This record gives sequence, structure tokens and C-alpha cells, in this order.
Amino acid sequence: MKTIAFFDTKPYDKTYFNEYNKNYKIKYFESKLNENSVALAKDADAVIAFVNDTLNEYVINQLADLGVKVVAMRSSGYNNVDVKAAFEKIHILRVPAYSPHAVAELAMTLLLSLNRKVHKAYNRTRDFNFSLSGLVGFDMIGKTIGVIGTGRIGQVFIKIAKGFSMNVIAYDPYPNPNLDVKYVPLEELFKESDILSLHCPLTEETKYIINESSIESMKDGVIIINTSRGGLIESNALLSGLKNGKIKAAGLDVYEEEADIFFEDFSDVIIKDDVLSLLVSLPNVIITSHQGFLTEEALSNIASTTLENLDQFFSEKVLENEVCYLCKDGPAAFECRHKNKKRCF
Ligand code: NAD
Repeated sequence: MKTIAFFDTKPYDKTYFNEYNKNYKIKYFESKLNENSVALAKDADAVIAFVNDTLNEYVINQLADLGVKVVAMRSSGYNNVDVKAAFEKIHILRVPAYSPHAVAELAMTLLLSLNRKVHKAYNRTRDFNFSLSGLVGFDMIGKTIGVIGTGRIGQVFIKIAKGFSMNVIAYDPYPNPNLDVKYVPLEELFKESDILSLHCPLTEETKYIINESSIESMKDGVIIINTSRGGLIESNALLSGLKNGKIKAAGLDVYEEEADIFFEDFSDVIIKDDVLSLLVSLPNVIITSHQGFLTEEALSNIASTTLENLDQFFSEKVLENEVCYLCKDGPAAFECRHKNKKRCF
């Protein structure tokens, strides 16, 4: 039986992976995978990792030295993996689509909560304060919502937004001709949108796509929703925009410095990250701890697909969900591996 080193384990991971696992001995480690913990993978045939694990060149090389030949990400994003360093050493697998609904629905939840100030109303009524002052929202119908990235999650989000009769515009370098949405250049999207929702991956091109100058070009009072990756937003620029009123509100399920903070309980500790502390303290910001994937359906799909990915690897089959540095995001993504029906290397 092959042994798997499973990093950054939470109780819900064990529940779903134990339910689907038939073929492997899984060693669950609570610690994140990084330079200090990589030795835990000794004796393992494979590693299962998550979004805040560190898979830089050093860790990849250490894993390769330990004889690990495959890392199965239990996520769709893999920006935390140095795929170039892994090439020809370690196969990187992922779960491309476990539930786009889970993430898109959380994005809309953040938007609706911010708009109608549910977070404030909840706190007030618990204190028997039934005042409505400061809780005025707006009708969603007819508002322009700009969607950046029209892949799996972006498409579900667009459908949901259309359900509210919103005017949806989108930007994607690989527009989907089958999608009923108006694509516009990024600059126009920034200029026209009352609300922005980010659904693109974190890449060199998208890093800090929301920055001081792009914020400057946005409508006054824009609302920004990010359920994608923290690195898409330059946090200091976001904070300035919120403080000077340019940005009306922000809903963040991800944060650029989340790796050592999200998923853990710091309620008894003083957080050293001043930007995060300020963002948390603002009444027009809702931060959730990267929980877009946290639905029963998504967790089931993550567990079953991750284990199927490993089954394919160990039975020498084509790796449907492999990624490498030659694969690109968007339609070209499928060229590298699907064109020749072979493994990436
Ligand atoms: P996807 O690959 O189906 O779609 C991504 C889309 O982004 C593609 O259409 C691609 O062409 C587009 N894109 C690529 N570069 C772009 C750019 N420069 N500008 C605009 N668009 C660009 O991915 P998905 O399943 O829809 O997931 C999107 C992202 O959501 C993931 O990369 C991941 O970071 C994030 N995510 C977050 C959670 C969570 O729990 N919060 C869960 C899953 C995924």
C-alpha cells in the first residue's frame, strides 16, 4: 500500500478523505508543508498539499530527494507551487473543478452582506439594538458588475449576477465565445463597474491587478469582492482606497499574507500584520478565512478527485489533472497535456 503524507490537515479533511480512501495509507500532519516540515514526507510515496503550503524550489528539491514523485494539490489554484522547479522531478496534480458553485455563491454572499450590512445588523440585534441608522443598502438590479476571469467560477458567478438582473461585463484574455456576456477591455471594466469580482488565477500577469492606479481609475464608491487569491490585490492600496472613500466596501475571502494566519485560531494572540488588523476593523470590510471551497459537495469532490488523481498516477495512466509550467491558464492550458494525450513529462 502506498503511503501519502497529507499536510495542513483539518478535521473536515480527515472526514472526507477517510470516507473516500480505499487504496492508501494516509499520514495526516497538522503542520503546513514548508522548509521546516518537509522531512515529514520521508517514507511517503506521494504528498497531498493545500493552498497555504509552500512548494518552492527548495521544498520541491527536498521532496524529490526523499523520493516523492507526485504532489496532489487538493485545490484548483497552484500558484504556491514552483511548477518550473517541479518539472521532470515531481508531477503536480490538482482538482480543477470541485464546485465552482461553492466559490461563486460565497462571492455573492459577501456582496449581499456588505450591501445590506447583514454583519452589522446581526451584531446590533444581538444587543437588542433595533435601530436602522447606517444600514441603507441599494437594489442590485441594473448595477454594473465587472467580472475578471470567466472560467468555471466566473461563469457561475455571472449566472447568479444575471439572476439579480445586474448588468454584467467581463474581462478575460481568453474570452469564451459561448458565454452570454459583454467582454470589455480591462480599463473599461474598471471605469464602468459599480462592483468588481475577481475570478482569475494568480499569475505574473494578474499579481496586483488591483493596485493604486487601477483603483484610481475605478468609479467612486466601487465595491471589490475577492474570492480568488490575495495576491491579486495590493493590500495597502486597497486600505488607502477604503480609508479615503474611493472604495465603498470590500469582501475578501483571501488575503495576500494569509499563509501563516488563515485556517488557524488567533483569537488569543495579537496579530502582527497591521494591514490585516486595520482591514478587519473597518465596518465596510468583511473578511472570511479562505472558505470559498467549504461546502459538503466541494469537500466530497476534492477528496474523491485528489484520490483518483493519485490512482491515475500509480497505475501509469494519463494524468487528466496534471499541470506543469508549460501549461497555461485558459484554453491553452489543455494543449500541453491533452494535445498528445501524454503526461506533462
Ligand atoms: P478557471 O481556470 O476555470 O478560470 C480562470 C479564468 O481566468 C480563465 O477563463 C482564464 O482565461 C482567466 N484568466 C487567466 N489570466 C487572466 C488575466 N490576466 N485576467 C483575467 N482573467 C484571466 O479557474 P476557476 O476554477 O474559475 O478558479 C478561479 C480562481 O479561483 C482560481 O485560480 C483560484 O485562485 C480561486 N479559487 C478560490 C477558492 C476559494 O476557496 N476561495 C476555491 C477555488 C478556486
